[in-house]
Amino acid sequence: MVTRWAVDDLDRLLAGLRLGLTGDTPPRPPRTLRAERPTCGARTRQGRPCRAKAVPGKRRCRLHGGLATGPRTPEGRARIAAAQRARWQAWRAAQGPHPRRG
Ligand SMILES: [Zn+2]
Repeated sequence: MVTRWAVDDLDRLLAGLRLGLTGDTPPRPPRTLRAERPTCGARTRQGRPCRAKAVPGKRRCRLHGGLATGPRTPEGRARIAAAQRARWQAWRAAQGPHPRRG
């Protein structure tokens, strides 16, 4: 199926892209009922999963990163990518040798 973009949608998309580039508040997703939002589930200081509802359009509550906008600058993105690579490398090392590759 071919998706047809209304001029309206395109305008809003471009506005959203501009906002993303300038670091302004990203456009909000449409309202969702509280019951439809997922539970945050982040680990609390008590070691139990957080029971709060996630920020609309996100997977975590406002106290556990739901309001975070993520890395904005190229340097910030590169820093996150490097940290994730290091973290996965450490995880793989902790798994021991590959079960089939020996
Ligand atoms: Zn939470």
